[in-house]
Amino acid sequence: MSAPGTSPPKVVPPLHSVTSQQSAPANVIIEVGPDGNKYYIQKAFLVHYSEYFSKALSGTWEEAKNGVVTLTDVLPGVFNLFVEWLYTQHLPSNYSQIADGTTHEHKWMIRLYVFADRFAVAALRTAMNRAIVKKYSKPSLPPYSSIIYAFDNLPSTDPILDLLVDITFITWHSSRDGPKGAAMIQDLPKDFFIRFYMRVGNERAQNRANVFGAFDIDFCSYHEHENEADKDNCPIQYKPAAGKYKLERPDVNKKPKDTGSSS
Ligand SMILES: [Zn+2]
Repeated sequence: MSAPGTSPPKVVPPLHSVTSQQSAPANVIIEVGPDGNKYYIQKAFLVHYSEYFSKALSGTWEEAKNGVVTLTDVLPGVFNLFVEWLYTQHLPSNYSQIADGTTHEHKWMIRLYVFADRFAVAALRTAMNRAIVKKYSKPSLPPYSSIIYAFDNLPSTDPILDLLVDITFITWHSSRDGPKGAAMIQDLPKDFFIRFYMRVGNERAQNRANVFGAFDIDFCSYHEHENEADKDNCPIQYKPAAGKYKLERPDVNKKPKDTGSSS
């Protein structure tokens, strides 16, 4: 372990210039989605960036023996996005185009974040956290389908869940939903409503009026920085806005106990 305030020692990532000089760069086959779409991925990159694949492809796992990993419940569109990031270390400027050509960027961003969380791709998870927080820094109502997906697939401690609640808190109003939206409200997860309810109650307890434009969000509070030095270097530093209430991620330690809604 590194001392507080210092970065852990960096492990050098694999280089294309090195792997391309190997007579046969080691590939693994990943079969993705219900149709088992085959991807041939360089093992050096997979195991470097993903703790999950590192374990799956070394040691006693079945996958380690035959070099094939099957991910039936992963969408090929998400895997496309992952592979592009894996080899370039850049997030796409157009998620939908790389995923499958459909236009729901919000959905693909949340899906890629969930993928990074599930397969322990720490650098991608951090990059996606920053990208999603940035996307909502011009607050707009998150699509209900994205909220439902996030709550169904992320651990209850994830800061993006709080972000989705707080963005909804400052942007939602009842006339905003058409009949379709109103119907979808019924599908929102119980944990979402509990957090929304707590947010309303907390603001009321402080006599902070919930009118549009009353709140100014400290977006850095949803970044989950590893330490104070990392936080100090964050490009998003909160500056109090005159006449507005500061809204930040609820103190995780003050949260009500997990209601056990996850099955
Ligand atoms: Zn930050």
